[in-house]
Amino acid sequence: MTEVLLEVNQLKKYFPVTGGLFGRKQGDVKAVDDISFFVNKGETLGLVGESGCGKSTTGRMLMRLIEPTEGKVVFEGKELTALNSAEMRKMRKEMQMVFQDPFASLNPRHTVEQILEEPLIVHGIGNKEERKQRVREMLEVVGLSSYHAKRYPHQFSGGQRQRIGIARALMTKPKLIIADEPVSALDVSIQSQVLNLLEDLQKEFQLTYIFIAHDLGVVKHISDRVGVMYLGRLVEITTSEQLYDKPLHPYTKALLGAVPIPDPTIKKDRELLTGDIPSPQNPPAGCAFHTRCKECMEICKTERPQLKEIEPGHFAACHLYS
Ligand code: SF4
Repeated sequence: MTEVLLEVNQLKKYFPVTGGLFGRKQGDVKAVDDISFFVNKGETLGLVGESGCGKSTTGRMLMRLIEPTEGKVVFEGKELTALNSAEMRKMRKEMQMVFQDPFASLNPRHTVEQILEEPLIVHGIGNKEERKQRVREMLEVVGLSSYHAKRYPHQFSGGQRQRIGIARALMTKPKLIIADEPVSALDVSIQSQVLNLLEDLQKEFQLTYIFIAHDLGVVKHISDRVGVMYLGRLVEITTSEQLYDKPLHPYTKALLGAVPIPDPTIKKDRELLTGDIPSPQNPPAGCAFHTRCKECMEICKTERPQLKEIEPGHFAACHLYS
């Protein structure tokens, strides 16, 4: 039976924009604007969209590294958004992040052993010997060796540094990993090694992932379900197969059109995305995608489409399906 691990309800993050002589508030950047979704135990939910669509802000809000403006995040029945900072710190043992740039996220003055030990010290887990033992174990688990423990981050390749970032995330035995563009900074040849490692670890430790990326090809590789975001809103969410075989939203179709096909002899009808993403401070009225949508109708310019279940388990926010 599937069990929900994480539920997100009407989550919003508005960043105030100030200006003028007295620094008055002039508006808001609606980085995330009313999104709701759930993640089942043991599954991988991909979140995709162009840069600036709010996917990374969403990931950070789930951990409360960024405070939501409104909305609820419920993890294993506990409302994270209602916890005080000490209670939230304890909860972070159960949920960890893997970041895009492993070099920037690892302290260059600390050895790998110190980096990996740190989350255990923060959460008061184990004595010195137990912590060192766990460091050795985790290095082996992610495909490194215990002799790497005394080295510094700059002594590793990009792929190895991301393995260290993954090992650090796993140190406290979390249930949920939020991976924010974990392979975008890596060479293509290394990307699949890291993706395979994440899949193996998921099976071994029954992990649940939220996998954030701008590249639909990468997300397909790893996700059970995928949510597509545009200008701070979820515009489509369904299983990975349905999204790739039968996308409904014109934005998803355009994103898929941009995924390169490895075989140049195969031709496909591509609906390519044109124009720039509008400013989230001043998003278009109605459907935020209408300024770039080839199927735009009059209603799209005035009425915002709501996310609705169009087929079983397949949700889209588009007037074409009203
Ligand atoms: Fe295009 Fe209209 Fe659908 Fe928006 S609601 S994606 S503008 S057809």
